[in-house]
Amino acid sequence: MPKKPKATRKPKQLIVRFPGRPAKPAAKLSANRRPATGEAVRKAAEVKAALAEARKSHERLREAIDILPQGIVFLDADGRYILWNKKYAEMYSRSSDLFRPGVRLEDTIRVGIARGDYPEAIGREEEWIAARLKKLFQPGEQHEQRLADGRVILIDERLTGDGGIIGLRVDITELKQREASFRLLFDSNPVPMIVCALGDERILAVNDAAIQHYGYSRGEFEKLTIRNLQAFDVEPPWAGEHAGDERAAHAWKHVRGDGALIDLAIYSRQLVYGDRPAVLLALLDTTERKRAEARLTFMAQHDGLTGLPNRNLLRQQMDDILLRTRRNAEKVAVLVLGLDHFKAVNDTLGHGIGDKLLRGVAKRLQSMLREEDALARLNSDEFAVIQSGVTRPEDAISMARRLLDAIADPYLLDGHSVVIGASIGVAMSPSDGDESEKLLKNADLALSRAKNDSRGTFSFFEAGMDARAQARRKIETDLREAVHTGALRPYYQPLVDLASGRITGFEALVRWPHPERGMISPAEFIPVAEETGLINAVGGLMLRRACTDAAQWPDDVRVAVNLSPLQFRVGNLLSLVVETLEQSGLPAKRLELEITETLLLEKSSEVLATLHALRALGVRISMDDFGTGYSSLSYLRSFPFDKIKIDQSFVRDLVANPDAQAIVRSIISLGKGLGVTITAEGVESEAEVNCLRNEGCHEGQGFLFSRARPNAEIVSLLKTQGNWSAPAGAALVA
Ligand code: C2E
Ligand code: MG
Ligand code: MG
Repeated sequence: MPKKPKATRKPKQLIVRFPGRPAKPAAKLSANRRPATGEAVRKAAEVKAALAEARKSHERLREAIDILPQGIVFLDADGRYILWNKKYAEMYSRSSDLFRPGVRLEDTIRVGIARGDYPEAIGREEEWIAARLKKLFQPGEQHEQRLADGRVILIDERLTGDGGIIGLRVDITELKQREASFRLLFDSNPVPMIVCALGDERILAVNDAAIQHYGYSRGEFEKLTIRNLQAFDVEPPWAGEHAGDERAAHAWKHVRGDGALIDLAIYSRQLVYGDRPAVLLALLDTTERKRAEARLTFMAQHDGLTGLPNRNLLRQQMDDILLRTRRNAEKVAVLVLGLDHFKAVNDTLGHGIGDKLLRGVAKRLQSMLREEDALARLNSDEFAVIQSGVTRPEDAISMARRLLDAIADPYLLDGHSVVIGASIGVAMSPSDGDESEKLLKNADLALSRAKNDSRGTFSFFEAGMDARAQARRKIETDLREAVHTGALRPYYQPLVDLASGRITGFEALVRWPHPERGMISPAEFIPVAEETGLINAVGGLMLRRACTDAAQWPDDVRVAVNLSPLQFRVGNLLSLVVETLEQSGLPAKRLELEITETLLLEKSSEVLATLHALRALGVRISMDDFGTGYSSLSYLRSFPFDKIKIDQSFVRDLVANPDAQAIVRSIISLGKGLGVTITAEGVESEAEVNCLRNEGCHEGQGFLFSRARPNAEIVSLLKTQGNWSAPAGAALVA
């Protein structure tokens, strides 16, 4: 007979060998006895009762162990089953059919292995059984057992007093799964994580990300404590007030393996690692974020171009300075510095050079200050200097002078020598305000004054500037409205030929009848219109109205229209004039355009080109207010003017002042030499007319002849009066 394979034979043999224990040993005992005597019967009854009692307590014990949540098994000294509870049978459900009192655990295991109930034993059955039996008969540590259905059982076995074995079984499948997913989460997490012991802070485990991040090997790590990674001696985040505060992040500085100092946000959580109390630390490298945050903060507080503090930071610095000086009873001077005509640099040399100029200015300003002063760029061409430790206004004056001097030196930028002036407004604490905002505002008001007075100087804040600034803002809003509703209109003032007394033309002068303030002088609102850009609308309106009106006048009467330099910047002046002439039907030769010297200051080739183009149309170009501005004779050479208007300030002094006479005389002879018409402005008296006529001046304009009048009056005036011969001009005065 062929020998059967071991694996299949064994269980069979086992089953055959199962003798089982006599279920009722007491009954067997009585069956083997001889017929009982009375004494024997009593004894037998006693034994029966004792047995019944024993069975009862056995039942109780069984009931008790059955309600336990753990599996429990009692084995005798040979490792044979005595008793086991329901949970135990459930846990080993695949083998429970084999459990019987007296059956050896080893045998049930062998059958189980044969059925594949113990996956860990496959391929090394005998070895596994030997190890298992060793643990059974010399119990020590707990151990785990994996079953075929994937469950994991924790086995805890002890020897009992009679040499038997009591075994506990706990299903730790879920725990194991949790542990496995924790491991997975830990090992493969992209966030560097470290487990460190709570007591001595030794590093117990690190994940791959931590190894990569710090550059230490796993072995090196395990020799470290968490404090070795820490740059500064601070309480670890899980200790002290943060104990148990699991989700809170803690900022830490760490030294990375490559020596770099990095910022960390640490998330900590206490856990038991193995059997040690430990903390799991998730270490988020925030170095980049911190750096980006710092950059953002810097950008929010500094000017990108010059790197100087901006208005926000300046205000903070000022608050500090003001607080400090208040304690020391010192004064603080706030100097707001505005560059003069910075826009012209940008427009003519380009923004690249404009930027370089601003950086150059910032550098010079910076070099003028002491540590305890502050400097900021407020907006495109405005800077602020906060001068502390001031005792008298003179300290601020000398600072302002030094700043103006420093700025005035030429800047060499990309081969261009650029000169820029500046004006300064000064406000002082505590007299002009004791808080940053107010001081800055007042210094700004003083700056507007400095700019209006004459650029290149400084001006101190004075009470009342604020009210003036408010009035100026009101003019601005009202003017916008007036332009919008067409409330502005031209008035016309005659230009009279002094030899013949004939009216050669009229100058259109803008008038603004204000609903509350009555007639507002152009001297007041034209500068506002220029600052706000409204001048283009005003200028366009005046040109159209003047040409339309003049087209109705006699053919030999001209109209003169004033142009602001700003109208040349827009670039469409030429086409505006062409269109207006076309639409109004006014011949070009009857239009005169008055410009002032400031237009020629910039010596822009575009301006000259526009002037030449206008003149080529047949339009006449006049130089207005001659003698007041820079009065460079080169201006007269740079463009062939048709007319020069002598400013009224010279005419006023003409009779009494020989100097004024000399100047007027030379302007007249200059004009004659150049073949240019000379007109005297502001003629108010017969004496002036006579004097001008004697000098050979061609034309006069002034109150002596007439004030500016609305068009309706001009038409009737021209009809009834025709021409005027001196001294009939006086009749014109309203
Ligand atoms: P302007 O172009 O030199 O005009 C002459 C100014 O002198 C006018 O002042 C006129 O009313 C005034 N005037 C004329 N004769 C006499 C006189 O005998 N005595 C005195 N004291 N003054 C006299 P107005 O109309 O107040 O204009 C002031 C300035 O406003 C003008 O000076 C001109 O520069 C500007 N302006 C006026 N209208 C316009 C305009 O439509 N556009 C531009 N861009 N500027 C204008
Ligand atoms: Mg004029
Ligand atoms: Mg004038």
